[in-house]
Amino acid sequence: MNIQIHENKDLTNFTTWGAKFTSQYFAELDSVEQLSELRKVSEFTTGRRFILGKGANTLFANDFEGFVLHINLRGVELAEDDGEFESYWVGAGEDWPTIVEYFVMQKNLGGLESLALVPGQVGAAPMQNIACYGATQEDTFVELEAYEIATGELKRFSKDECDFSYRMSRFKSYDKDKYIITRVKYRLKKLGADDKRVEVYESNYESLQYFLNQFGKPPYTAQQIFSAIVELRNYKLPKVSEFGSNGSMFANPIIPRAQAEELLKQFPKMQIYPHTGMTHYANKDVNLEEMELVKIPGGHIFEEIGYRTMDKYGMWNPKMHKSGKVGAWRKHALIATNYGGATSRDIYEFVMQMKQDLFDATGIELPPESNIVVS
Ligand SMILES: Cc1cc2nc3c(=O)[nH]c(=O)nc-3n(C[C@H](O)[C@H](O)[C@H](O)COP(=O)(O)OP(=O)(O)OC[C@H]3O[C@@H](n4cnc5c(N)ncnc54)[C@H](O)[C@@H]3O)c2cc1C
Repeated sequence: MNIQIHENKDLTNFTTWGAKFTSQYFAELDSVEQLSELRKVSEFTTGRRFILGKGANTLFANDFEGFVLHINLRGVELAEDDGEFESYWVGAGEDWPTIVEYFVMQKNLGGLESLALVPGQVGAAPMQNIACYGATQEDTFVELEAYEIATGELKRFSKDECDFSYRMSRFKSYDKDKYIITRVKYRLKKLGADDKRVEVYESNYESLQYFLNQFGKPPYTAQQIFSAIVELRNYKLPKVSEFGSNGSMFANPIIPRAQAEELLKQFPKMQIYPHTGMTHYANKDVNLEEMELVKIPGGHIFEEIGYRTMDKYGMWNPKMHKSGKVGAWRKHALIATNYGGATSRDIYEFVMQMKQDLFDATGIELPPESNIVVS
């Protein structure tokens, strides 16, 4: 099918913010074959462009003067089965939460259960190496296929070649905007009906443990972990169908340990974590004294400097709930939220204010985790 190019397309429903913006040029990519056709479109190859999944990690500050390519590459294909593990190629345009539910709940395959309900597409998961509750997509990742825009070649990248780190990969850093990820392969464990996972979710994940308690004592099956995570996330995070957000707007800052210790004087309740992980149960064994760099929880610091939309009595904080339209999420201060009717500009200005306030209070320059696009 020929690729259709639209002009001045309204993309309000193409991100998770629910805020209106348009794109000068827009097309849906439905097949890999269309890519060679797209390479002949000068507005795409020479102008400014943006590859868009669900927009769950992207904020357009205003109308986009360039070309938005929305990925709609579908399909799930069994690649290998060695008796113990099954590997699948998954199209970059598949919905991540749907695919995770399918593998865990329908196929009883283990590995992705902790990444339940992370909004977005499969192609964006390796891009920023999505992670939560001690699991990252790289744990089950095998390889991906990507289209190099400059040469028109389809290339494969192994896990090592992707250069994954905390919320990062080569595609988000030195190879940004060079490739279109077309499909991703994951290796998942075949679980028997009564196969218990060995992981013990305890200690730092008190909130997760609370939802796991309904299944008794650990260890838990992948399906139980999936269910507990779905309940926890539904409780704690804004539902994308109701409130606009990008989840955490900023990554947790990684700073020298000496600076973190200095900050402790200002914020005595602040926790410090190894820079390699975050509230992971394995961190119990890590000696922070030996680390030059550590990670600190951005959400906690934002709360300390006043970024709560509601106080403990449920009253709105007028400063942070600017114009009644955009503010920090009431249960997690790192999450900028469209409470209804905010424009893209309102959200952008609020996020910049967050960044500035944190810098003024701590001297820490916080890079946004979300992709902020300013035209
Ligand atoms: C409520 C909420 C909770 C969240 N919780 C988490 C969480 O727990 N952990 C976490 O890690 N993230 C979380 N996020 C962030 C978000 O879910 C992930 O970053 C997700 O991977 C974004 O997917 P997307 O398809 O929406 O990406 P988009 O926002 O559409 O794109 C993100 C980036 O990837 C690029 N991109 C997308 N698809 C492709 C492709 N096929 N090829 C090349 N480049 C591509 C885009 O150009 C852009 O640079 C949360 C977001 C929300 C709204």
